[in-house]
Amino acid sequence: MSTAPRHLLLASVHDVSPRFEGELDRLLELLAPHVGERLAMLVVPNHWGDAPITPGSPFATRLRHWADKGVEMFLHGYFHRDQTQHEATAARLRARFMTAGEGEFLGLSREQASARIADGRALVEDVIGRSVDGFVAPAWLYGQGALAALSDSAIPLAEDHWRVWSPPTGARLASGPVITWASRTRARLASSLLAAAALRRAPLDVLRIGVHPPDSRHPALVRSIEKTFSIAGRSRRAGRYSDLLAPA
Ligand SMILES: [Zn+2]
Repeated sequence: MSTAPRHLLLASVHDVSPRFEGELDRLLELLAPHVGERLAMLVVPNHWGDAPITPGSPFATRLRHWADKGVEMFLHGYFHRDQTQHEATAARLRARFMTAGEGEFLGLSREQASARIADGRALVEDVIGRSVDGFVAPAWLYGQGALAALSDSAIPLAEDHWRVWSPPTGARLASGPVITWASRTRARLASSLLAAAALRRAPLDVLRIGVHPPDSRHPALVRSIEKTFSIAGRSRRAGRYSDLLAPA
């Protein structure tokens, strides 16, 4: 692989679910002038167990349409919520306080994670009519079981907060933090605005920007997202995650 800088900008929309369809539309409208169809959608098959994506439904049809236009489709957990009892206290505390219980893949065994990835993948691939492009665990949190299950799968790409890698080979494909926003508390919202302002000019080879449905409800976040894409887009080409797998 080449070591020449790629100056790539990779955009992703998290928590793609019928639950957040209105927010999703607003985010897509916001991103379109900057990235067009060059973005990844992180699809949750059944958000919190009560927002299933049903094959043949209008939302499923929209997903297939986006995939047909070239939007990359990533599996993003299954329920998104952590429904396991963690044995390790540290993992439990991390899941509870850092993610408000969204770390679905933190406490799963290899077998459980494999089954959930297989189920989610089968559903999403049925809906979009092609293979998923990658996997991202909810809240970017992976336990050992999840990492092992992923390397068993043939899913070509995965990411956490700090890197993108190839599960089949283990190769690291990009490094550096994702720019993302948080709105759960006022303090987190304020610190995410500061982090975005600093990182959007960072001299990273690959700059990742991830947006979440609730971002669209906060005018200050919407402005920060807009500005981040504008500034990053001046010196970068909007690309696709699969570009990271292309031979030099
Ligand atoms: Zn998520």
